[in-house]
Amino acid sequence: MTQAMHQVLVIEDEPAIRGVLRVLLEAQGYRCIEAATAQRAEIEARSHKPDLLLVDLGLPDGDGLEVIRRVRAWSPVPIVVLSARTLEQQKVAALDAGADDYVAKPFSAPELLARLRAALRRQVRGTSPQGLLQFGGRRVDLARRESRGPDGELHLTPLEYRVLECLARQLGSIVRQQQLIREVWGPEREDDSRSLRVCIRNLRAKLEPDPRQPRYLVTETGIGYRLRTDEEPGTAG
Ligand code: CA
Repeated sequence: MTQAMHQVLVIEDEPAIRGVLRVLLEAQGYRCIEAATAQRAEIEARSHKPDLLLVDLGLPDGDGLEVIRRVRAWSPVPIVVLSARTLEQQKVAALDAGADDYVAKPFSAPELLARLRAALRRQVRGTSPQGLLQFGGRRVDLARRESRGPDGELHLTPLEYRVLECLARQLGSIVRQQQLIREVWGPEREDDSRSLRVCIRNLRAKLEPDPRQPRYLVTETGIGYRLRTDEEPGTAG
């Protein structure tokens, strides 16, 4: 099991269901955090930056739809609804609010897990085929969060994978610094460019053949960063 397993935020007010979901998710190697209210859900989403949200719609202090809308305002994180509301219009409302998929309660465990895997795959498949990045003898599998270099396995942190995912969705294009910080660290950290600079420096040390002369993780001074790969047309060498 890799050290950068995906983290799932389970938003569900019924403790018994939360417990079942935690056992199910952890058995698959996911890390799991929980929130029992809409308010707590937003706090956890902002502080932990989970890789996926599993959202119950009926919460004691609000509607899961509102949680989805608020998180969607700053993050493209995959959101899967798990709800007993099964009318077509309720599903449509959840998808319109920004959810990526919908699973009805009572749920089948294999189906739920398959939907979660699919949502995570779609997230990294945005621009690069199958979420695979190749540059300078390095190979990064965003979907599996596994990386290899010429000397064997490379250990990237969850934050480093998140930054790469964000850059990979706009492969070859400039991604603004603020967007990277908002997506990876959260909207309240938008002015904190230091964490991003440190993260980019560490990524270059792991991924660039010559970290002092970056060819793949390129700085666009004053704007942000650009990710290039060997397959991208126009990349030298
Ligand atoms: Ca509920």
